[in-house]
Amino acid sequence: MKLAARVGQVTPSLTLAISAKAKAMKGQGIDVCSFSAGEPDFDTPDRIKAAAKQALDEGKTKYGPATGEPRLREAIAHKLRTDNQLSYQTENIIVTNGGKHSLYNLMVALLDPGDEVIIPAPYWLSYPEMVKLAGGTPVIVNTDGSTHYKITPQQLRAAITPQTKLFILNSPSNPTGMVYTPQEIQALAEVVVDSNIWVVSDEIYEKILYDGATHLSIGAVSPEAFSRTIISNGFAKAYSMTGWRIGYLAGPVELISACSTIQGHSTSNVCTFAQYGAIAALEGPQDCVEEMRQAFAKRREVMFNGLNAIDGIHCVKPDGAFYMFVDISQTGLSSLAFCEKLLETQQVAAIPGIAFGEDRNIRFSYATDMATIEKGLERLETFVRSLP
Ligand SMILES: *Cc1c(COP(=O)(O)O)cnc(C)c1O
Repeated sequence: MKLAARVGQVTPSLTLAISAKAKAMKGQGIDVCSFSAGEPDFDTPDRIKAAAKQALDEGKTKYGPATGEPRLREAIAHKLRTDNQLSYQTENIIVTNGGKHSLYNLMVALLDPGDEVIIPAPYWLSYPEMVKLAGGTPVIVNTDGSTHYKITPQQLRAAITPQTKLFILNSPSNPTGMVYTPQEIQALAEVVVDSNIWVVSDEIYEKILYDGATHLSIGAVSPEAFSRTIISNGFAKAYSMTGWRIGYLAGPVELISACSTIQGHSTSNVCTFAQYGAIAALEGPQDCVEEMRQAFAKRREVMFNGLNAIDGIHCVKPDGAFYMFVDISQTGLSSLAFCEKLLETQQVAAIPGIAFGEDRNIRFSYATDMATIEKGLERLETFVRSLP
């Protein structure tokens, strides 16, 4: 079959492939310690499930508006105003099939062939692929441990050309767990405003912060920054709702209407009764978010201390999300070889950094129970010691 050329330009998701292999090994009865998951290990809070069940019973099972249930859009606009100091109204919001889909809609609505999109590496692996699927050109800017894997304003300025349309900012970051400080966000906002490009801020991990780190949305820096900002967010990480597939995009009405048209001809509305779970997530008490964050915080300490106690590997302490981005360059192995050997010999699953544009590192997710973390760390130490 002769498939479309665009298919040949995209790479299948390596994280999903490794997670699938680890799951298959588990299915065969093999005792795998998996650090590959990109999702919280908690069940969705009961009150959210109850709201979706009630919506089902009440017959919320039909088509709804392509942009989302009005009450959910209103709740999201309210959340953005009160949590993030972003002055959005209902018409600035579209509900999408996850944060991934909101970003994809954005790329399709915004990019023409030749348009460049600046993506700091290490990056979430779907960004460059989405840009390519939409016909744009990813421009990767490499960062390293010396700046805690954060792009500097100088680097951003240097990467901007007359073709630059969009800059993708992700804080807290997947895969590094790094959080840009308010000062760093302000400095990046200045470059964005000066050069009149768009910035999309992927804020899916905004609630998962440690040690007093704060999240500042780039759109809250100034009215000028706000007018160049698009927000992508969702319910997957904060409320442990990955399988529900609900996210949202917030931005200028012109963009949101374009996304609505695209969505109207592709997916239509997000599952109607699932949206009622999302309404409950936002409108109810937020204790569940804090409980999960505290559990992550404990695991983070154990992971960080355990990883850095192993001779030959090290990592920068992350202040957000639930990942450790471990530098394995001293072992001399490529990230893929490291992960394959680790899985084969010690049954420990992690994601090679090459998937995120950085071959010197591998990503450990600590969205797993403490027993797995402790056992996995022991196995990892055995593995690193066994290397020549
Ligand atoms: C998980 C994740 C998303 C969105 O996930 P959805 O399940 O589609 O809501 C977006 N960006 C990053 C960086 C993520 O890790």
